[in-house]
Amino acid sequence: MSGNGLKTKNIEIPATITIRDLAHAMDASPIEVIKSLMAIGVMANINQQIDYDTAAVVAAEMGYEATMETPEADIEEDQGEIPLWRRMIANEPTSELKNRPPVVTILGHVDHGKTTLLDAIRHTNVAEGEAGGITQHIGAYQVEHNGRLITFLDTPGHAAFTAMRARGASGADIVVLVVAADDGVMPQTKEAVAHARAAKVPILVAMNKIDRPNADRDRVKQQLAEIGLIPDEWGGDTIVVPISAKQRKGLEDLLEAIVLVADNAEILANPKGKVIGTVIESERDRAKGVLATLLVQNGTLEVGDVVICGSTYGRLRNMFDYHGRHIRKAGPSTPVSVMGLSDVPQSGDLFQKVETEREAKTIIGERMLVKQQAATAQKSTLTLEQLFDRFQAGDVRELRLIVKADVQGSLEPIVNSLNDIKQGDIKINILHAETGNIGENDIMLAAASKAIVIGFNVLADSNARRLAETEGVSIRLYEIIYRLTEDIEKALKGMLEPEEKETTLGHAEVRAVFHISKLGNIAGCRVTDGEIRRNARLRILRRGEVLHEGNVTTLKHLQDDVREVKTGFDCGISTKGFDNFEVGDIIEAYIVEKVAVA
Ligand code: GDP
Repeated sequence: MSGNGLKTKNIEIPATITIRDLAHAMDASPIEVIKSLMAIGVMANINQQIDYDTAAVVAAEMGYEATMETPEADIEEDQGEIPLWRRMIANEPTSELKNRPPVVTILGHVDHGKTTLLDAIRHTNVAEGEAGGITQHIGAYQVEHNGRLITFLDTPGHAAFTAMRARGASGADIVVLVVAADDGVMPQTKEAVAHARAAKVPILVAMNKIDRPNADRDRVKQQLAEIGLIPDEWGGDTIVVPISAKQRKGLEDLLEAIVLVADNAEILANPKGKVIGTVIESERDRAKGVLATLLVQNGTLEVGDVVICGSTYGRLRNMFDYHGRHIRKAGPSTPVSVMGLSDVPQSGDLFQKVETEREAKTIIGERMLVKQQAATAQKSTLTLEQLFDRFQAGDVRELRLIVKADVQGSLEPIVNSLNDIKQGDIKINILHAETGNIGENDIMLAAASKAIVIGFNVLADSNARRLAETEGVSIRLYEIIYRLTEDIEKALKGMLEPEEKETTLGHAEVRAVFHISKLGNIAGCRVTDGEIRRNARLRILRRGEVLHEGNVTTLKHLQDDVREVKTGFDCGISTKGFDNFEVGDIIEAYIVEKVAVA
């Protein structure tokens, strides 16, 4: 590259970087970056992280020489399936990684005993005597079992867990699935399993209410096996612990099983590393200001640290543990209640320590900007109608499509009939045709190549929809082939011959006719509905018959030239080529717009 005399610019790239950040660093559009990546066979969306090597290749393509920078990624931007905090821990030097307590969340169907179980564990295992055995409700607590700490998230139910997952940050290492032995696997049990699986978190079953006379352990195991949780005693790998939360039976076995699962799961963090974690819950207290429970996931959080969470930040003034005791430091897997944030963050927001309040403000400012940009991008969805404008501007000479269909048997006829459609010199270019639902990759391809995504008997998954919104990609779904082809045909016709659409602005009635030497006759009118605009099209109607069509040449209100006159006001109107007005004539004003047929 230096051979042709072009000077390369330098760019520092961290070990991993999102497409958005890379584009920003090079002052390029993310789509350009996505295109360069496609050229080297990498499919990535704007929020996806790529590694340094890949980023360096793209940077070189775009005239930059890359050097590696120490990572300082903005944690909010991440939406990958593996939470960023986990990946950041994986990036810590192996020699610094230490075991940390597992973070456990309890899920299950309503009334199966989640709250009772959390209370039972807290009362039997939280070291009493300390601080009078009082535990504060801060949304999480820790218990000790044979010298090992376990952190429990104390907000049963799916809401908190789902909120965390929605932000790509599932905070739990282990899910304890509570299933009542007298009720069995129920809809929310299945939902919980789906969440845990999607978050790749191991599941442990607490079969509760075994004291109930109608408890049927074998039936529950059978049902568990049916949803893919094969009990270990049947040769599967799901530990099922029979308990009675009410009678506080089997709790030690459950804790033992948690430790066992944790030992298999390599639950590690670097206590000296970058300080990151998740917001468990938060509230505004009249006296104390914003109180937030943070779960530290890596590093050690200290009083006096500046943290940012979502779009809020602050210097931590005070820190308490779940006993309500003041503490100064909190290592990995420790839940703490903190004071000092400027505003209430959301459950599931990630937090990170930054060095100064100034840095915090800058990062938050950038986040706001990204959000605004996303909102603007949303408005510029590339529709079939807008393709027409691009065609007019000479931008687009073909209609590019990505076609997805349910089965091969419908894909072929669709592709064939689309290829048969011809309209003048505009052609259809099918970039990609495949069976299956519309996914993120399809949207990326469409965004990078200004195409529209057509689906036949398929759905667009939620990630795809989200990306389509931010990238401004139009998705059109059909269930009948001829509707699909008809629509495309219409769109192409629209491109060639935009329809003229007339919109009536208003009417005025002629009440007097004045003669002005320079202009000829002027109609003195009263606007009866809508408005009359200067330069609008007009037609003059006498007893329902059109006498003349032209433009509003002059429009006066009193003696002044005006742009528009609204209902109820008087005005003087003249038009070129006609001045034979009579009292009682109706002047209709309208505008004509060119629109492509959608
Ligand atoms: P959640 O909706 O899953 O949080 O369920 P709860 O903890 O509120 O429990 C629902 C009901 O089941 C309450 O009336 C509990 O007392 C009762 N319950 C919970 N665990 C047990 C148990 O082990 N045995 C019996 N017999 N009842 C229980």
